[in-house]
Formats: sequence, C-alpha cells, structure tokens
Amino acid sequence: MSFLQQIAKSRPTKPQAKTRRWTYLPYDRLTDRTGPLRETPPREAGLILVESAAKGHCRPYHKKKIALLLANERHFALEQAARGVAILYATETGTHGDGLLQLQSEFNLSSITAMHPAERELRLDLAQAQDRGLRVDYVEDTTWLSTESDFDTVFKLKQGRELPRAFIMDRFYRHMRKKTGILMQHGAPIGDSFSFDAENRQPYKGQVPVPARPAFRPDAITQEVLDLVVREYPNTFGNLDSFDFPVTQKDCDAFWKFALHKLLPTFGPYEDAMRDDEPDLFHSKTSALVNLSRILPADLVNDTAAAYAAGKIPLASAEGFIRQVLGWREFMRHLHRVTDGYRNLPGPLANKTGSPSYLHATRPLPAAYWGAKSGLHCLDTVVAQVIDEGWSHHITRLMVLSNLATLCGFSPRELTDWFWIAYIDAYDWVVEPNVLGMSTYADGGLTATKPYVSGAAYIHRMSNYCGHCQYDPKKSTGPGSCPFTALYWTFLERNQDLLSKNQRLAMPYTTLRKKTVAERKALRERADEAIAALQGAAPSRGFIHT
Ligand code: SF4
Repeated sequence: MSFLQQIAKSRPTKPQAKTRRWTYLPYDRLTDRTGPLRETPPREAGLILVESAAKGHCRPYHKKKIALLLANERHFALEQAARGVAILYATETGTHGDGLLQLQSEFNLSSITAMHPAERELRLDLAQAQDRGLRVDYVEDTTWLSTESDFDTVFKLKQGRELPRAFIMDRFYRHMRKKTGILMQHGAPIGDSFSFDAENRQPYKGQVPVPARPAFRPDAITQEVLDLVVREYPNTFGNLDSFDFPVTQKDCDAFWKFALHKLLPTFGPYEDAMRDDEPDLFHSKTSALVNLSRILPADLVNDTAAAYAAGKIPLASAEGFIRQVLGWREFMRHLHRVTDGYRNLPGPLANKTGSPSYLHATRPLPAAYWGAKSGLHCLDTVVAQVIDEGWSHHITRLMVLSNLATLCGFSPRELTDWFWIAYIDAYDWVVEPNVLGMSTYADGGLTATKPYVSGAAYIHRMSNYCGHCQYDPKKSTGPGSCPFTALYWTFLERNQDLLSKNQRLAMPYTTLRKKTVAERKALRERADEAIAALQGAAPSRGFIHT
C-alpha cells in the first residue's frame, strides 16, 4: 500500500475535522515533543503536513536532502496517525501557504496553530498566504533552547534602534550556560572555564579507531520517496547512492545514542582534523536530524552533560559539542532573525538583497564546487564527499571550501546558495549566518572578529590531504607550489585597507610588510594563476549526478 493510501486512513471527514484542534508543522518541525502538538491529547489533535513541490524545486537541492526530508516527514505522519492524531497530508504543487489555504477551505477550518517558522522563506510564504485569507495563530517555537529575549537582553537590542556592529558568541553562550545550568556547578563553569577549544585541535593519525556507523536500510515508504526523487528531481545536485539515513523516530533515536556513546567520547580532540580516508571522523551528522527536529537540541545537550557527569565523555569533548548546540546553533538563529537574513545589517553594509560583500568579492563560484576536478586534492576530496553524502564536517566547510572562496574573492552569496543546495542540514537560518557571517566576513565583522582564512600550513597540519596532492604545501611560489599560501598573502594585501587595523590580524600583516617587492609580485602571480585555473576549469558532469 502506498504512503498516500496509508495516511488517507487518518484523514477525517469534514464533520470529524471540526472536533480537532489543528496544528501545522513544517518540514523542519517533525516532533510531537514541543509546541501545540505536545499540549494536545492525540484524540483531540489534528496535524497538517504539506509536501510542497514549489519549495522542492526552488533550488537544485541535493537529492539526498530532499529524500531525507520527505522520508522523515512521511514516517512522522504515520507515527502520529498511529497515536490517534487526525492527519491532513497535502502533496501540493504550489507553496506551503497554497497547501494550507486549500485545506482550510476544503475542511472549513476556523483556525490553524503554528509555531513561528524557523526559516525566513517559510515565514514569507505563510505571510503571503495570510494576505490571501489564511488564518494562522502563531505561538512561540519551544523547540529552540533559547528565547528571543535571551539574545536581545545579552546584546541590549531595542526595537527601532540600529544593531551593534559586532555580536560576540561567547557572551551569549555564557548566558545560556548560566541560564540552563548545563556544565555548571555553584554558579561557575565546571573545569573553571567556559571553553576548552584549545584542547580540541589535534590532527588525527589513527590514535583511536573510528567506529563503524549504523546504516538504516530504506523500507517501502522510503523507497517510494527515493523513486519520487529520481522521477521528479533528476537533474539536481548530488546522488542518492546508498541512502541509509534514519527516517523513523526509533532509528533517529538509535542514531543519536550511537553518536553519544561511540563518537562523542573521542569527538573533542579530533573535531578540527581532516582526513581523505576517514572523512567523517568522530562527527555525528546529527545536525541533519536536529534541523528537522527528529532529535531535539535539548536531548543533545542534556544527554551529553549527563554522559559527562557519568564519566563517559571527557569534559573537553562534552563542552565542545554542547557549545555547538547550546551556543553557536542558537546564536546563528538569532543573528539571522535580527538581521532579517543578513538583509538588515548596520550602517553601510545594509543590503536588502541579502548579498553583502564587505570585501568586495564578486567572482563567480567556479565549476570545481559543482564537481569539476581542480587538482587541489583538499578541495576535490571535500566536494566529492558532498556530492556523495550531502555533508562534510565543519572544518572542511570552513577551512577548505569557505577559506578558498574567501581567498579567491568568490561571491559570498553564490557560496551561501551553494551550501544551501548541497548540504542536507542547510536551511536559511543556519546557512546565511554561517557563510555570509562566519566564513566569508561578508558582513564586515558582525558575526566573526576576523576572516577565517589560512594558507597551506593549516590544512597541512590538520589533514592528510597534502600528502596525496600534486602541490607542495611548503612552497608558496614557483612550479608545484600550493596555491593556498600565495592566495593567503595576496588576500591580505588586496584587503589591507579594510583589514590591516584588525588586531587579530596584526601578526600576519607584520609578516606581509617584511616581504620584498619581488616576493609579493611572485605571490600575486601564483595567486592569479590559481584563480585563472579554477575559473577556467571546464564544468564536469558533477552538477548532474544521477
Ligand atoms: Fe590543498 Fe595545497 Fe594541501 Fe594540495 S598542497 S591538499 S592544494 S593545501
């Protein structure tokens, strides 16, 4: 029996629909543990879910991203039906708002309750539907760990007042640690420090084996989704090969338990390491499921703190992971909210199109990001992983993909859209702050205190990529030299009017000033050659991976 035939059994008649309290949950809030669905007994609850083809087709999303989302949404619908919740499940060619309007009209629903959507795009979609008559009562989204007031109080934000020029994540993170009491004792951080980041920077050289990950074989419902993706999204990014993500609540919970018990104990020391033979290392990939609300951020934080307290996870690993969830993830969401998706930036950076570029980076993103081979082993390795999995871990995102784009002056907006398309965990509230703010400094320092750029030395130290590359990371100019180092120095030179007064860049600028005119010229020539080579690389079949 197909999914639609199964879920139709929980579709009420029009009179039955009148007896239920209707909640709309979008694609990224697939949980009954927060919001109105949690508050309502199943026999009184009605749940509206919408599959929007317009949303699915608005970007050439990675095939695995579409499959992960739809398979989870369909399984969630069946799980809620099994609890006795009435389900209105729309497969809509238009937008989510179109689907809601159609159901409201067909069942004469007097009101629909929804949590404030996380995605700006969905907020706009529903606002347009409200203009056309949709009746939605919004309530606070209790899936988050922090409230708007938490963030606004820490940074003293007031309605109508211009935003500060910089937000420091650490201030917000400390507030959240104190508020929640996570990893706190007698009002002080356990271990006498809020961060153990300095302990979490080891390269990985096989010190401990990387555990084999559980695979979740597609069931009939998932196979139907995979067939749909092949049929309806044939020319989008990436491939569907060996799809084995968890899609039921039971499997999502098992996935998190595996990550907690097998990966997190060794996560911290190697969280910044990169390997071509162990691309995932000890990263959990739970971001893909947390951003769908199949695993709740509260569970990640509480379970990790409890495992630390039980002596199962070292403090540096536990704190490093908790900082990502309780600190950075929430910080990103609020920054996106208060800047209207980086469209309302302070002062001269205001950019209504969402395409700020403080460093005037306008070069188009080259074909190498879509799968054309560049000859840079670090870049080609990470892009190949993304094409295959729709995922790579945070340091490969920051110090390979974003680093190279920033050094070369590729458009921050194009890079943002690429991440949004390519990564299974990317949604506007998380990808725009991370790329426009943290990775590319396109916001001029609102999010990060300096651009996150490096030459070859960092990649050489933290990965095994360079040992398998045609280029020499220890040479910055001349035949066989690694382009990263020349790109790094010419980036600093090119942007010295904007960056040289930044205290965090004082040392590299001092080193740059000591270089001779001839050295700088050679670096510029090597950098120009590298950019020309990237931009000249012919597009491969990488974009169209069927
Ligand atoms: Fe990347 Fe340079 Fe290392 Fe090659 S040598 S892998 S291009 S950093």
